[in-house]
Amino acid sequence: MKVIWSIVIAVVSLFAQVDLTPNEKLFIKNHLFHCVVTPNWAPFNMLKDDKIEGIAIDYWKLIKHKLNLKSNCKILPSWTLVLEDIKNKNSDIVPATAKTPQKQNFALFTKPYATYPIVIATRNNIGFINSMAQLENKKIVVGKNYSAAEILKKHFPNLNIIEVKDIKTALDYVSRGKAFAAIDNLPVIAYNINKYQFANLKISGKTPFDFKVRFMVRNDYPLLVSAINKAIDSITPEEKERIFKKWVYVVYQTGIDTKKLLTIAFIAIGLILILIALVIYQFFEIKKRRKFETQLIKTATIDSLTGIFNRKHIDYMLQKEVEEAKRYANPLSIIFCDIDHFKDINDKFGHKVGDIVLEELARIMKQNIRKSDIIGRWGGEEFLIILPHTPLNEALRVAEKLQSAIRNYEFPKIGKITCSFGVTEFKSEDSIYRLMIRVDQALYEAKNTGRDKIVVKKD
Ligand code: GH3
Ligand code: MG
Ligand code: MG
Repeated sequence: MKVIWSIVIAVVSLFAQVDLTPNEKLFIKNHLFHCVVTPNWAPFNMLKDDKIEGIAIDYWKLIKHKLNLKSNCKILPSWTLVLEDIKNKNSDIVPATAKTPQKQNFALFTKPYATYPIVIATRNNIGFINSMAQLENKKIVVGKNYSAAEILKKHFPNLNIIEVKDIKTALDYVSRGKAFAAIDNLPVIAYNINKYQFANLKISGKTPFDFKVRFMVRNDYPLLVSAINKAIDSITPEEKERIFKKWVYVVYQTGIDTKKLLTIAFIAIGLILILIALVIYQFFEIKKRRKFETQLIKTATIDSLTGIFNRKHIDYMLQKEVEEAKRYANPLSIIFCDIDHFKDINDKFGHKVGDIVLEELARIMKQNIRKSDIIGRWGGEEFLIILPHTPLNEALRVAEKLQSAIRNYEFPKIGKITCSFGVTEFKSEDSIYRLMIRVDQALYEAKNTGRDKIVVKKD
């Protein structure tokens, strides 16, 4: 097992090995390389606990490992001093910078080992920026003498670019609303937003430019440059990814415009609210209409004074019950009731009191009949009671019950009143007209024989 594993490693390292020329190999073997950096270019090279670290340092370590070269690293406080050191050949290599014609006068450059977009940072409330035109007439801040500043000034001379001390200051300007956007390469922007906790900032878009990171080498070391170039070619995408993820935490605007999103959300909420309002309105409308309809039905069937059925409806109910009784040969009786001397009550106590008597009487009668019995106001002070499934003798008992209930009741203001009753039973050969004539005759007889009476008429 161990043997197989060693073979695998050997094969892999054979592929990974950088194919150097004898001259390059010799050059690397015979030199100790002095690297030089500034401590303050996060996240490329920066000082932490007295140790230099960052993206550039990780790539330098990777290259050193791939080429098996010996080196040490020096930290100088400013970029100007670093450039001087390379110019004077006191140091040999700078792990990260951009290639510019000015620097090419005294230094060599490797091919880029990493390429990052130059991005635009704004406040969170700004939408996706997909064109540089969106930056016109707006204050743009960049770090003084940074590569981003150089590129922008060259390609977009009309932009309102303000150079500030460093990227932190630039982001601070944007955060406090003193500028619209800060521009720099992706790792620098992302790292600094995160490090200084600019919670109201985000990356809103890309410029058309990329920042290519290279090693800068003193100009008498072309062999080092060519060797490093070969090493760079052997860097795998996984190795690049690992370094990027280690140093760059990105919250990147990918084209979804928050402003648009908010507008859509507002419209959606608005529509939902309108819908809810419509449903509520509809609900109350239906309720209102139902109430109106029941009221309509009520006014069509109910007597407004007494709350019992009106003439029209009691007529209809009588027809219905007569048909039922005929069809099933069920007994059916009716009681016709008329208040005695009601005219005198009206005359003596007034029409209003008369009305109260009618209301009270209807209530008393309703209380003294069965649920299946049907009572209605026939006219003025006359009431008709339909008693389905009731033979004549039982109807008489109901009339007696009503008579005594009325006799025993003290009416407000007027005291006692009496009623006269006609009672009859439906016969199969009867028409409604004949039935009503018979009950009317019975009532007439009750009136004529002294009132406060029940007269039963069989035929
Ligand atoms: P009788 O014993 O013969 O039935 O005498 P009566 O006075 O009751 O009968 P009559 O038919 O002479 O008079 C009925 C009265 O009922 C006349 C009318 O003013 C009164 N009346 C009819 N409808 C109403 C009503 O809705 N309210 C009031 N207060 N009185 C009514
Ligand atoms: Mg009458
Ligand atoms: Mg009467």
